[in-house]
Amino acid sequence: MNSILVRKYNQPVPRYTSYPTVPFWKDEIDVEAWKQIFKNKFEEQNHTNGISLYMHLPFCESLCTYCGCNKKITTNHKVEDEYLLAIEKEWVIYRRLMKQTPVIRELHIGGGTPTFFSPKNLQRLLNFVLKSSIIHPKHEFSIEGHPNNTSREHLKMLYNLGFRRISYGVQDNDPEVQRIINRIQPFENVRRATETAREIGFTSVNFDLIYGLPLQTPASIERTINQTIELKPDRIAFYSYAHVPWTSKGQRLFDETHLPSAEEKIALYLKGKELLLKNDYVDIGMDHFALPQDDLYKAWKEGKLHRNFMGYTTTSTKFLLGLGVSSISDTGNVFAQNEKSLRDYYSMVGENKPAIKKGYFLSEEDEAFRKYILDIICKGEVVFSEKHLPLLEQYSFSILDELEEDGLIVWDKYGLNVTNQGHNFLRNICSAFDLYLRRNSTDGKKIFSKAI
Ligand code: SF4
Repeated sequence: MNSILVRKYNQPVPRYTSYPTVPFWKDEIDVEAWKQIFKNKFEEQNHTNGISLYMHLPFCESLCTYCGCNKKITTNHKVEDEYLLAIEKEWVIYRRLMKQTPVIRELHIGGGTPTFFSPKNLQRLLNFVLKSSIIHPKHEFSIEGHPNNTSREHLKMLYNLGFRRISYGVQDNDPEVQRIINRIQPFENVRRATETAREIGFTSVNFDLIYGLPLQTPASIERTINQTIELKPDRIAFYSYAHVPWTSKGQRLFDETHLPSAEEKIALYLKGKELLLKNDYVDIGMDHFALPQDDLYKAWKEGKLHRNFMGYTTTSTKFLLGLGVSSISDTGNVFAQNEKSLRDYYSMVGENKPAIKKGYFLSEEDEAFRKYILDIICKGEVVFSEKHLPLLEQYSFSILDELEEDGLIVWDKYGLNVTNQGHNFLRNICSAFDLYLRRNSTDGKKIFSKAI
């Protein structure tokens, strides 16, 4: 990969799990209007594509200092019961808005640490939701597991309920890096969790790895990647560490002088990527690598990838309901995010109300430009609509010229195609169609340094 281009395009650009991106959402949304749209879109989508469900389980036993997720740190497992009651109640609130039995095509449990919950409690939650639903024949159920506490009992129970995918937060295997990020996780635990999942029948294991963490060096990344390759996870997300101590306060707990410089960080990425590519992994874009036998690779090859808040997916539902504190729902034309504080979440659900706090109602223009961005991320090509040409000319075409000069795309007034080289810079290409960023380009840098 061309390192001059890596340096040039190493800018703070969103990951585009949503468009418009979160910094542009409204702090309050009309909940009655949201409920109406929820009902209409549910009816439209349920029997055609089925729906996606995301459940956020926020508890973790200890704080990883790099973490930017919405989580609650506690070692008190009594919190499980109260939380389960609330999330079950929230499901009932939404079930009342559904005039048909929901057909669940995609189910993802994220956190926090979902495996903080006992197998019995997780099973209780899943049974509660699934007993009043139809499971789509081609369902995809997945969960995020912590290598330190994902037990055989967890995995067996999840397998019996139809889960075939698990994603482990590995991050880095080096003991010194683990010490400074406060995530002590012996490689043997990663090996055990991976091998047990496979033995039980999970068909897709993902590892999340991070580059740019304090004390990482090319040699330590090399060891982590080589150990990862030994276990051959089917998918790998190799994320860039985002240092945002003003929002993620845990990041103040380590000395910033231990962070790699921008140049060193790029070298870590290039080293990791080189090793993955040498070992059969294919870069499918946006920090994701997959083995050719994995469904994600096949969907990418066939131009059938999709992307939502859960990352890349191979299913094509257009209706995502998020349950739990801070969860985000997406009906295609509305984003709605739940309360981020547990107290407010419990209180809203306790009053039998959706726990929605903020969100965004998309205009027709937003929906069209969202599709352009998703087509770049998932298919690597875009067809322009004639009616958007004036807007594209005003905000995007000059950037497309520069991207073409750098060999990242080829384009004309009918559309664009991402080149092989451009595949490494998908976020930058997407940003040419981010009208919020373009219209705020003078302070765009400030906005997005918070967004990634
Ligand atoms: S990285 Fe994961 S396990 Fe660590 S604090 Fe954040 S959510 Fe919890």
